Amino acid sequence: MAYQTINPYTNEVVKTYPNATDTEIKSALEVTGNLYETMKTQKIEDRAVILHRIADQLRANEDELAKIATTDMGKLFRESKGEVELCALIADYFADHAGKMLQPTELKSQATGHAYVEKQATGVLMMVEPWNFPYYQIMRVFAPNFMVGNPMILKGASNTPGSSEAFEKMVQQAGAPEGSLVNLWLSYDQIGQIIADKRVQGVALTGSERGGRAVAVEAAQNLKKTSMELGGMDAFVVLDDANMADVTDIAWRARLYNDGQVCTSSKRFIVMDNVYDEFLKQLKTNFSRVKMGDPMANETSLAPMNTKRAKAKLQDQVDDAVKNGAHVYYGNEPVDLPGQFFMPTILTDITPDNPAYRTEMFGPVAQVYKVSSEAEAIKLANDSEFGLGGIVFSGDTKRGERVASQIETGMVFVNNFMTSLPELPFGGIKKSGYGREMSELGLMAFVNEKLIVATDKPNLNNLAGGLVATD
Ligand code: NAP
Repeated sequence: MAYQTINPYTNEVVKTYPNATDTEIKSALEVTGNLYETMKTQKIEDRAVILHRIADQLRANEDELAKIATTDMGKLFRESKGEVELCALIADYFADHAGKMLQPTELKSQATGHAYVEKQATGVLMMVEPWNFPYYQIMRVFAPNFMVGNPMILKGASNTPGSSEAFEKMVQQAGAPEGSLVNLWLSYDQIGQIIADKRVQGVALTGSERGGRAVAVEAAQNLKKTSMELGGMDAFVVLDDANMADVTDIAWRARLYNDGQVCTSSKRFIVMDNVYDEFLKQLKTNFSRVKMGDPMANETSLAPMNTKRAKAKLQDQVDDAVKNGAHVYYGNEPVDLPGQFFMPTILTDITPDNPAYRTEMFGPVAQVYKVSSEAEAIKLANDSEFGLGGIVFSGDTKRGERVASQIETGMVFVNNFMTSLPELPFGGIKKSGYGREMSELGLMAFVNEKLIVATDKPNLNNLAGGLVATD
């Protein structure tokens, strides 16, 4: 796999990076393994100071970092800046709160003595991350695990090497100990080699179902714990009493933000029949207003897709959907620009036998479905192999919450855009993966929750009958 930045707006090959050598891998395992040993005795407050410095470093270099991400994968410069700021927020959050969350938990127990659970580091982590948020995805794993004391080896996406390199540089420049995060240009086989190493105790992957499955198999063979943040086909449910002004304002953003290349983008709009026509009309109006162009320019509102390959894949998916009976309500026309632009597209009349019904379209294509009851909306929302997030709009927030509670995913927002913040757990169920990132749940993903029971004097009455010594 060649690690290469190809600017998707200009198609210029910006930089190519050589694959990692055996010596680099050996040295990364040594330096991270050694750091694990020293982090065990380091005060967590010292790491909090460093993590705050990383946040400062990110903010101080926001424009430069944003430009690197935009050059790597094409997202709007202002969205890249927002991503850098979110990373700084995450770093500050875990620097401020992880110490308290990692305090031992006291247990009330019948055991003799004082029972408590310590939260300890487990070892080196292998982190495999995608290109769609080339900093934020790394930070979701880095900030909590840096506080825990798990050093990390990073394999970023092959098309966003500039961002992976820049992230590692920020960590180093903030004075983090050597080995806190080592970025390597790894092949898939080399990832397997690292996972098998005894110093590595966990694997965190964000990406597709295909990539997740391959890495999870590798980890399972070596009995290493994993967390998997995979794809989604999130539903955006519009109930009959929804405030259509709010729906109109949010729906197009929920699909087109980051050019629709977000795991939690609203990919299926499930709309009640009384507001269906109005919904479609407004979505079309908003899709037709976007301005494609230079992602660095302020006036641009729709970026190119991340690669030529991604655009071709999306076009194939749309062609296949149409071949199988979907109706193109809007879009699906060529864009006369050299970059990897895809015209925002609205598909309707997708039947369950159409492959599109079960396919994650990772780009600016909205699938819109009509339903005639709340129960039908919930059933359709749940008729997916994925279970990541979702949005419900209702004029009655309590009703929206009741519907949200019946949607089989890891996260649902009612009457609003989905947001990701450090204090909110992020993750899914079904083929969207398992485990959570962010919040206290994410902090504990690779922690050894170690039971200690201590007493001054043993008490044999606590022994199970069969274990009592007999003469
Ligand atoms: P991807 O192809 O799975 O790539 C993600 C990472 O996994 C990359 O670093 C990739 O390396 C690596 N990878 C892929 N196949 C691998 C294999 N067989 N062995 C080892 N490593 C492998 O995913 P993507 O298409 O770039 O990203 C989009 C997908 O990620 C979508 O499905 C999206 O929904 C999902 N996603 C999920 C979340 C979440 O939090 N749940 C967040 C963002 C994105 P290379 O780049 O070298 O191929």
